[in-house]
Amino acid sequence: MKQRPSFPASLNATLAKNRPSAVGAVQVSMAKSATTTPAAAPAGHGMESGAVRARMVQKLAAQGVTDAQVLGAMGAIERHRFVDSALINQAYEDTSLPIGLGQTISKPGVVSRMLELMRNSQSGKLGRVLEIGTGCGYQAAVLSLLATEVYSIERLRGLHDKARENLRYLRLPNLHLLFGDGMLGYAKGAPYAAIIAAAGGEAVPQAWVDQLAVGGRLVAPVMTPGAPGSAGGSQALLVLDKTPQGLRQTVLEAVHFVPLKSGVA
Ligand code: SAH
Repeated sequence: MKQRPSFPASLNATLAKNRPSAVGAVQVSMAKSATTTPAAAPAGHGMESGAVRARMVQKLAAQGVTDAQVLGAMGAIERHRFVDSALINQAYEDTSLPIGLGQTISKPGVVSRMLELMRNSQSGKLGRVLEIGTGCGYQAAVLSLLATEVYSIERLRGLHDKARENLRYLRLPNLHLLFGDGMLGYAKGAPYAAIIAAAGGEAVPQAWVDQLAVGGRLVAPVMTPGAPGSAGGSQALLVLDKTPQGLRQTVLEAVHFVPLKSGVA
């Protein structure tokens, strides 16, 4: 296994100045998730990164994320292990970061927002979930704490391999990494309680709708028509519920995701 550089001292200094104050339910559920996560703390630095992460979680809660399970999972997965060593200082900032091959790891704020939407106020774990766009594997790891089975597809071989490497230490038996074109979904794992996409296309591929369980929910960035006179459209977050009565679609806030592309490379 590739040795990750240790957590930088500069973050610990920041931390000392800004100790997180108690966030009640959030911290309780974080502690719970932490004990159920097979993640080994990075040697000698677990406490430091844990506290910086707790601060990130506190900010997410302040931004309006209320789902304690989501906050707990965000507190448990070490985001700094999924970014290049040169970017470790920024691992717990609410920013997207490059992960190679022109792709990015999503902002923690967007990840937690989408996961909260995906869970849709459920109290327990979701069933089987499909993720389109594994990238570096960060969101897949967070998802694995919130669902019984996670299937995550990536179309770029280089990132699929990188995610496998990044995730090895966590040993998550319910996370299945797949190399392929996620626009086709993954029929073998269907039907899914939820489908979540980390890349945005012109429209939601029919395969995703077909593979969603009745009662299931899809959360994905999609292009929306541009304002009159403007060239092209912009992306917005789409929530699609498959109800016994049919599909119900809700378009939410503007987002900025990398494009959904067909085929593999
Ligand atoms: N959730 C990821 C975010 C990665 S960015 C993380 O935590 O790092 C989105 C990813 O979607 C990119 O890696 C991109 O290659 C991938 N992608 C784009 N179109 C895809 C497709 N059709 N099938 C699978 N992956 C796709």
